[in-house]
Amino acid sequence: MRIVLVGPPGAGKGTQAAYLAKNLAIPHISTGDLFRANISQGTDLGKKAKAFMDAGELVPDEVTIGMARDRMNQPDAIGGFLLDGFPRNVSQAEALDEALKEDGVTLDAVLDLEVPEEEVVKRIAGRRICRNDSSHVFHVSYSAPKQEGVCDVCGGELYQRDDDSEATVRKRLEVYHTQTEPIIDYYKAQDLVVTIPALGKVEEVTERAMAALQGGE
Ligand SMILES: [Zn+2]
Repeated sequence: MRIVLVGPPGAGKGTQAAYLAKNLAIPHISTGDLFRANISQGTDLGKKAKAFMDAGELVPDEVTIGMARDRMNQPDAIGGFLLDGFPRNVSQAEALDEALKEDGVTLDAVLDLEVPEEEVVKRIAGRRICRNDSSHVFHVSYSAPKQEGVCDVCGGELYQRDDDSEATVRKRLEVYHTQTEPIIDYYKAQDLVVTIPALGKVEEVTERAMAALQGGE
């Protein structure tokens, strides 16, 4: 199966992508991993991407598309893949269609993880991280520490990362609405979109997505 996963920041996309890819026995292709791999291996595309990133500029679509395409053509992805973080705008979606067409294949589904906006803000803005160890993560509502502001694991001070502030989250949501959400309409026109309510436990969301994918066959 060839699947694209979309959803706003805070929808648990990375976690769902990992579970779904495992259940479907297809590789999980995330843009973050693509960038890291190409840069660490020093590929031409990786060098290009790094030059833009070092200059504080956005990596152009064609570089991202090139990396995604190389990855989709590797042997383990021939039978299918799950894309996470790509395409992130309509022009990338068009380029992806073009690339797949040249390879004689098509997408099977676009999974749209749906989370109410206020829930996204609550999920992200409530995160608190331990200053001693960033893997000690709490949430003011969902997994509150026993004592406010203090890590249960090591007693370290808990703080909110700048990236997690409400203002930053709202800005990221705005970017998602203007840049990425239009791809949902683009794929709706191809009858590929499956909307998955992404509230509830991680396993429940995975089950919903699996049921929707299997029902659609
Ligand atoms: Zn700690």
